[in-house]
Amino acid sequence: MPRLTIDGQEVNVEPGTTVIQAAEKLGVYIPRYCYHPGLSIAGSCRMCLVDAENSPKLQIACYTPAVEGMKIITNNEKVKQARRHMLEFLLTNHPLDCPVCDQSGECDLQNFYMEYGRYESRFLEDKIKKKKATPLGPHVVLDQERCILCSRCTRFTEEISRSHELGIFNRGNRSLVDLHPGKTLDNPYSGNVIDICPVGALTEREFRFKCRVWYLASQPSVCTGCSRGCNVWIHFNASQRSYKNQGRRIQRLKPRFNPHVNQWWMCDEGRFGFEFIDQNRIEFPHLRQGSRLQPVDWEEALQTVVRATRSALDKFGPESVGVIASAMQSNEELYLVKKLFGDGLGVSNIGHSNPAEREGFSDDFLVRGDKNPNRAGAEALDLTASVDSILEKATHGDIKVLWVFHHELPPQALEGAQYVVFMGSNWNRTTESAQAVLAGVTHAEKDGTFSNFEGRIQHFQQAVPPLEESRNDVGVLLDLARRLDCPLDLQDAGDVFRQWCGKSLRELEPFGELLTAAAV
Ligand code: SF4
Repeated sequence: MPRLTIDGQEVNVEPGTTVIQAAEKLGVYIPRYCYHPGLSIAGSCRMCLVDAENSPKLQIACYTPAVEGMKIITNNEKVKQARRHMLEFLLTNHPLDCPVCDQSGECDLQNFYMEYGRYESRFLEDKIKKKKATPLGPHVVLDQERCILCSRCTRFTEEISRSHELGIFNRGNRSLVDLHPGKTLDNPYSGNVIDICPVGALTEREFRFKCRVWYLASQPSVCTGCSRGCNVWIHFNASQRSYKNQGRRIQRLKPRFNPHVNQWWMCDEGRFGFEFIDQNRIEFPHLRQGSRLQPVDWEEALQTVVRATRSALDKFGPESVGVIASAMQSNEELYLVKKLFGDGLGVSNIGHSNPAEREGFSDDFLVRGDKNPNRAGAEALDLTASVDSILEKATHGDIKVLWVFHHELPPQALEGAQYVVFMGSNWNRTTESAQAVLAGVTHAEKDGTFSNFEGRIQHFQQAVPPLEESRNDVGVLLDLARRLDCPLDLQDAGDVFRQWCGKSLRELEPFGELLTAAAV
């Protein structure tokens, strides 16, 4: 194991480690544009130059291997001066449009320039003009003048998406990034080039000019688009959380590094598929009066559904109640469904979903065909009664009260069902057949865990408050448990997780733990 010294600190690294990686191990950040840990080394931007003892010239830290006895200085005057020259060079043809650039606030050209800047320009404004604000595909806009030719985007389309849409054309200061003839940047992972572009050359069509980044706050979460469970950051508007004033609270999703699940990437389907968090939401509990659902308060809604459930249990026994839980629910919610309906009330008709439900596009990279974020959790908790058979019993009148969580069932599946209670976050076709609708929340408005397709339990955290009167399933299930005389001595999702896994959510490994390792 080579041992080297960086800025006076010693570090041991694996053979094959580069200087930039060794420095990261010590917490020393070396500025970079073209280097990205998920891509091949280009060594073109020269921003990561460092001073290596006994080397006559500065070396690029992204490509220089860490070797035994090496002594590296990352921040002396020689290095700083070289970085200043590089920044001045990169800005030769870069437009000075920071005030109107959507990357402002998260642009590395801005950031590093402020750190190393030579504030008095030696240039006349005689810059080469290139294409501005050009859509490359459904999600990405290119501003060629802002590009610093780091080649991260072209390497992404060559090495990761393997879709080869982008290239660098021409020579010298006429060089530019563009689409290959006849191509559109519409691969299923196109949004990642926005994340890795260090400047404002590639921006997101959906997010452009919606919100300045310094108004955003973020919370770690898990994408619910499919059963892979890519780790994401939810970026939400921190200054105005009010849904009514703002229309869209969640501004964007960004991939969050997890070496076991998604590395640095996520698919476009998950990245752009979060409108349901703020659209078509059930904001209040409702009860059917005649042919219409009318909003009511929680007390009235819960009293009514408890009365219906208690009456069916007393008259016809536990076989008269059915529960269709959902692989969209968190582990904690599913655990409580089992505790309340199964262990508490003796109900055996508890299923979670049809295997064919919510199936869709898949590939051999990240996207899974199963669009449920928590099927593995539902299966581990053994909520596996056949949903078809539960629906058949309901339509034949054997099940008197049917609880449906977060599912969109076609109306014909519920024809003949006597009393349907729906709990979920969005209006859908199941609510058309329900006698009672309980207003639930989305994953962005609650804490919990999902188990992805490999059985990896991953923690997601609340980003924004519940809309209006909506409540999370955990709170509602605990309330129901008290009213149905099977109280559970638990307060929130953290308590439920502790009872389920024997540890707190904080003790869960940052990159998640396999169901078996968590001793479930
Ligand atoms: Fe790099 Fe962005 Fe230019 Fe692509 S568009 S080469 S990621 S600066």
